[in-house]
Parts: sequence; structure tokens; C-alpha cells
Amino acid sequence: MTSELSYRTLPNFVGRPNFVGRLVLALVILAWATPRLQAELSVSSDFPGGSADVIKVDQGESLVEVEPPQRFGNGWPCWWYFQVDGAVAGQPITVKVRANREPFRDGRSLAPHWSLPQQASISGDRANWEQTRPGTIHVDHAVYQVTAPAERFWIAWGPPFQLADAEALLDRIATNDPTAERFELARTRGGRVVPAIRVGNRSGEHAVWVQARQHAWESGSSWVARGFIDWVVSDDPRAVALRAETEIVFVPIMDVDNVERGAGGKDAVPRDHNRDWSDDPVYPEVAAAQRRIGELIDAGRLRIFLDLHNPSSTDTNPFYFGPLSYERLPAAQQRLYNRFLDLSIEQITRPVAIHPQFRFATYVKTQEERDRVSKMWVSNRGDQRLVSLTLETSWNTPQGTISGYTRVGQGLAETVARFLLDDNPEFDQGS
Ligand SMILES: [Zn+2]
Repeated sequence: MTSELSYRTLPNFVGRPNFVGRLVLALVILAWATPRLQAELSVSSDFPGGSADVIKVDQGESLVEVEPPQRFGNGWPCWWYFQVDGAVAGQPITVKVRANREPFRDGRSLAPHWSLPQQASISGDRANWEQTRPGTIHVDHAVYQVTAPAERFWIAWGPPFQLADAEALLDRIATNDPTAERFELARTRGGRVVPAIRVGNRSGEHAVWVQARQHAWESGSSWVARGFIDWVVSDDPRAVALRAETEIVFVPIMDVDNVERGAGGKDAVPRDHNRDWSDDPVYPEVAAAQRRIGELIDAGRLRIFLDLHNPSSTDTNPFYFGPLSYERLPAAQQRLYNRFLDLSIEQITRPVAIHPQFRFATYVKTQEERDRVSKMWVSNRGDQRLVSLTLETSWNTPQGTISGYTRVGQGLAETVARFLLDDNPEFDQGS
């Protein structure tokens, strides 16, 4: 019996480890394969500049639907930027963006077109950004059909430009040019650094101040700024000549807080950043800029002030907001402005030509408010040899890309160089 029992039970006894082994192996394979077979799309925005409330993620339809969130007090709810995980490279995905219609300030809600570009920006590495195919724009939402470039990718209203991008840009310039001076313009109300740089001849006859991004959602303005400074520090003989005579002060992001929050910034509480140029500014970076600009003016050196923005969705060409008091300016100063515009028309020709006339911001209703716009504060403070302008670079076009923006910035820098270097009778009269 004993031997018979042993004989009968032996195969089962010997077989059990094989069965257990196979079971364990199957479980291991299942555990390995499950996330791959059932990879789920997910959306996140918990990173600098990230901005999206998730409305829906539909795995079956490969659809993600988001809305730019309200950040009360921090301006327009128009900027969106998020990360998608769980895609398969090459997977068609539908991205639906719903405009946020909830009142953001004083009962006002934002018109949807600010949030719904014809083409969004997509990236598989957050360094190279491409436009999506044109989306279908509806009354209150847009639908973009995208092809996932990787398992993880990012999609945004436009090519993002964050504080880290500003730091990297200024580090690169300072490394390549030992005469450049990196400095901290200010610490924001949120405790963040506002980085800036001075290049060129710091005791030169002329000074130029260029700043971008008083409105956080206008990411294109920082790319225009990058195109500007990259040309200024280049080996182009005109750039070399410009630097020999001129100090250029450069601030790629003014409203660092809202840029890093992923907020729109425009119409923030208590003040829009570009309505804060008063005797008592709210934002430390505005106060710091006023102080430094005032010093350049007092030294009789500031020739050009440029504040970089992005305009409305319907503006197809870059344009300048001109001096609101243009008609009251002395004739010689009017000629200076006209000359700057004429040179801009010659230099800013691609990818789209600059609008050939100054425009005037009629939506600013009172003189008191107009005088709190940065370019107005600077021109009111400056002398008659100063040109103080806002450049609005169109974004809702096929050229609203990194290369399109930086090309406009280069044209702007070439304009500045010609304005200051070419024979200029107005300077001769004024000096
Ligand atoms: Zn703006």
C-alpha cells in the first residue's frame, strides 16, 4: 500500500511545482502586460506653467477634454498647458478645450476666442514645439485632432516659455559674453526671482530697455524677446556695432508669478501688470524697472523702450501701439517715431510683415489709466529723444511658432540697430 500510494501520488507531487511555477509565471506576465495592454490616457498639469481642469478622459474614444481653470485674482482664464500620459506614439487623440466662461473679475467673463487658438502647440520633449493641425473652433470650445508624438507628451495654447527657459537663455548669453551682467531685477510678490541681463556697453551713449510678458498668457512675447536678444548678442557686424555703443537691458519675463502659476495674468487683481506703472506700483518688478529706467533717463541715455505683447486672436500681423499723445508730441519726436516705424517696416517683413501704421489702444478709457501703461509711464518720464512702444506680435496664425516669433524678434533688433547706428539727424539736433 505504501509503495502503491507513493507511486500514485508521486506524479501529482512532482507535478505541483510545475503548476505553481506556471501560475506564478502567468501572474508575472499578466502583471507586466496589464499596464501595457490597458495603458490609460491621463492628464496632469502640476508643473510650472501647467494649467488645465480635466472635464473628461474617454479611453475608448481616445479623447481628453479640458478647460483652462479659474485662478481668481490672477487674470484671464485663457492659458492652458498640460501633460498627457499613457498614449502610444502615433496614436490619434482628440483634444477638446472648453473655454472657461465663469466670471473672472467684477462679473466679467472672458470671450472664448482668447482661449481657442486655431492651432495649438504640441511637444514630445518640451523643447521642440510644433503646431497641431488646425482645430475645429466652435462657439465655446475647440477640437484638435493630434497624433501622440510619444507615450508622454505636452500640449498647450502656444509654445510655453517658463522661468527655467528664461534662466537658461540668460545663462547661455552670460557664458558666451563675459561682459554681460546677469542681475535679479526683483523678487516678485510670490518670492520668485525676476531674472534680467545687461549686454553691450554699460557706459555707452545709448541705452535700450526691452521687456516681455507683463501678461503671462502671452507666451509668444517671450519668444519674440529671445529672437531679439539672440540677434543682439550675435556676430552680425551690426550687432557688434550696436553693442559697442549701446547698453541693452533685457527682461524676458516680467510677471514671473503668473507665468509660473500657469495663470493668464491679464486683468489681475488688484491691478493688471501693465496698468501698474504708477507712483505706487503693486508689483516689485514694476517698481524695480521704474527705478532702473528712471536712472537711464536721468543719465540722458535711454533711447528706446519696448514692451512686448501678443494681441487679439483676430490680429494677423504684428503691430505697434504708438504713443497715445502722438498728436501732442513735438514735431522732431514725431519724426523719431515715424523713423522707427519706417525701419520696422523694412526689417520686420517675415514671416509676416508688420502693420505699416501705429495703432492706438482705444480700450483704455481714462487718461489716468493710460498713464499707468508702461510705455506711457516711460514716455511721460523720458525726454524728447525717446521712443517708447508696445509691440504686439500676432499669435493666431501659422506663424505663431517659436521660429515665427523669434524671426520677428530678430527684425525688431535689426530695427533698433539701424535706428541707433545709421545717421540720425534728430539725435544731432537734440544733443
Ligand atoms: Zn498684453
